[in-house]
Amino acid sequence: MRIDFNRPFLSGKELEYMQEAVNSYKLSGNGEFTKRCQEFFEKRYGFRKCLLTTSGTDALEMAAILCNVGPGDEVIVPSYTFVSSALAFVRQGADIVWADSLPGHPNIDPDGLEALITPRTRVIVVVHYAGMACDMDRIMDIAESHGILVVEDAAQAVDSFYKGKPLGGIGHLGCFSFHETKNITAGGEGGLLVVNDPSLERRAEIIWEKGTNRAEFFRGMVNKYGWVDTGSSFLPAEINAAFLWAQLENLDTVQRRRLDIWGQYYIGLKTLEERHLVHLPVIPEGATNNAHMFYMVCRSLEERTALTAFLKEAGIQAPFHYLSLHSSAYAKAHSKKGIPDLPHCDRFADCLVRLPLFYTLEDSDVKDVIVHILRFYESR
Ligand SMILES: *Cc1c(COP(=O)(O)O)cnc(C)c1O
Repeated sequence: MRIDFNRPFLSGKELEYMQEAVNSYKLSGNGEFTKRCQEFFEKRYGFRKCLLTTSGTDALEMAAILCNVGPGDEVIVPSYTFVSSALAFVRQGADIVWADSLPGHPNIDPDGLEALITPRTRVIVVVHYAGMACDMDRIMDIAESHGILVVEDAAQAVDSFYKGKPLGGIGHLGCFSFHETKNITAGGEGGLLVVNDPSLERRAEIIWEKGTNRAEFFRGMVNKYGWVDTGSSFLPAEINAAFLWAQLENLDTVQRRRLDIWGQYYIGLKTLEERHLVHLPVIPEGATNNAHMFYMVCRSLEERTALTAFLKEAGIQAPFHYLSLHSSAYAKAHSKKGIPDLPHCDRFADCLVRLPLFYTLEDSDVKDVIVHILRFYESR
């Protein structure tokens, strides 16, 4: 038996749309498929302005440029996240201030935020872990009262909501990823920047197009275009947008199946939680579940190591997830304030394990995974 942790979803239409892009002889960025994908998000979620990017990391880099952070500025970032949530701001010269997770959820703990804010704080980055919303009402209140921008790292949070609002559409800027490990993919790598603050809209488009006002030129708003600002080439090629379009058409189908699998794990493993052997995911108040991930939190690093080894022996890939960024080699080498003590983050780094979850995973495979986990705990 072999059960992979992830396999990208394929709708079957990807090659057809990529061929269509090829036939149009328009292969560079900002073509028909890019526009179609951007409009999909703008219409379906009411997002103000959407720009496809070559990755989630690039969307975060655009966000960091738009927030105008630089040397001397501080950005609050949760330590339990992917490198890019912090790296995008580090590249602009900002100092990162690390925030802890909630005791019972990997998301950022809003209770600790006020203590981290200084006169130099410019941005709070929130990460909706496993596609489940952070406490956005409280975070937006705190940010507003200090005049701080909020960037949502919604890389895992496509089609997920907080009190009826789509994630990625609540902070000043929102960043999605279409990497092959996410619910839907733009052919391996891809992302989306959502600009919610109208004052950042014009500049976002310029940064996206290598610092030029090319987009305005093509809309007939200026009669020639030139270099007006900083930027980079953040646009994906049409081939990738065409791939993504084939996935977006099937988003509801993907989400339904993923939620079904998620529910099977939850029901099948509930007994372990009742016996206090593991913690299962908690859906935060006001949040929805987009079934990006099913995870369990073990009681110790030793137990998690034994469990993942046991599953590996049975051919089941069940990886752990982030290592705390605040204790990474890079953070240690660049920290000005010393390494903070973030016990909740460290517990998730040591004890959290993720289970296989993808569109074509069979019910019988889900059952096998559950049976093996139960067997592991019987044997202890
Ligand atoms: C996947 C992910 C990213 C990076 O996205 P890429 O498309 O791989 O660059 C950033 N933040 C989080 C939380 C992620 O899960």
